[in-house]
Amino acid sequence: MPRESGAIARSSRAMTTPVSGVGPSQAKPSPGFTNQEIAAGRRLFAADWQFTSAAATPVSLPTMKGFELAFAGRSNVGKSSLINALVNRKGLARTSNTPGRTQELIFFSADDRVTLVDMPGYGYAAAPKAKVAAWTDLIHAYLKGRANLLRVYVLVDARRGLGAPDDPVLAALDESAVSYQIVLTKADEVKPQALAACDAAVRAALAKHPAAFPDILTTSAETGTGIPELRAAVARLVDEQRA
Ligand code: GDP
Repeated sequence: MPRESGAIARSSRAMTTPVSGVGPSQAKPSPGFTNQEIAAGRRLFAADWQFTSAAATPVSLPTMKGFELAFAGRSNVGKSSLINALVNRKGLARTSNTPGRTQELIFFSADDRVTLVDMPGYGYAAAPKAKVAAWTDLIHAYLKGRANLLRVYVLVDARRGLGAPDDPVLAALDESAVSYQIVLTKADEVKPQALAACDAAVRAALAKHPAAFPDILTTSAETGTGIPELRAAVARLVDEQRA
């Protein structure tokens, strides 16, 4: 398959349709999505998602099958909680209070069509240099060779916004021309005004990143805010590949 997943994922429809608004009243109706898209997202994620493989080194990456959507973010950003909320299963992705513990790419599938990829958390201050280097190698190998990767969702804590640890990751995504989108997490922890400020700051920062999808999704694994929209966004991306 040619290395054009970024171009595929950034199709004209995806670029022109806003996927999210910001603010407390985003629950109904879902901004940017039709009821059919929300229903398609619900159906996709109602399937029986299971762990399929893990890769700690580039050579152990599994063979490409179907389409992949990856989730990245700083340690403790709420990535495991978000994946579990998406698939509606508490224990699928392992939540952890030990930042920096997981150093593997973890693959979850419901069928041969779609795979979710939990990327190892980054930016843990106490991580030894050798671990950071191994992480960087693994991520670069994955991003470079993954023609079936439709999008990387980069999770950002709505209380913190983008920070220095996110910079090399965004740079790696720009360099590999993989389409990526920011997903704010823990929106329940932030007042509407601070949420709007975070959204605006992230949007401004994204202007410098060519591979970044310009819209931002706002979520809370705790309250379920934005989860139907994120499911619909994934379903839309998968659906576009068939169009
Ligand atoms: P990971 O390290 O990125 O996988 O993060 P986890 O999913 O393990 O979450 C880290 C911490 O943030 C845990 O204490 C979670 O309970 C908490 N957390 C995750 N998502 C949310 C959320 O949407 N709202 C709130 N308030 N806390 C959350």
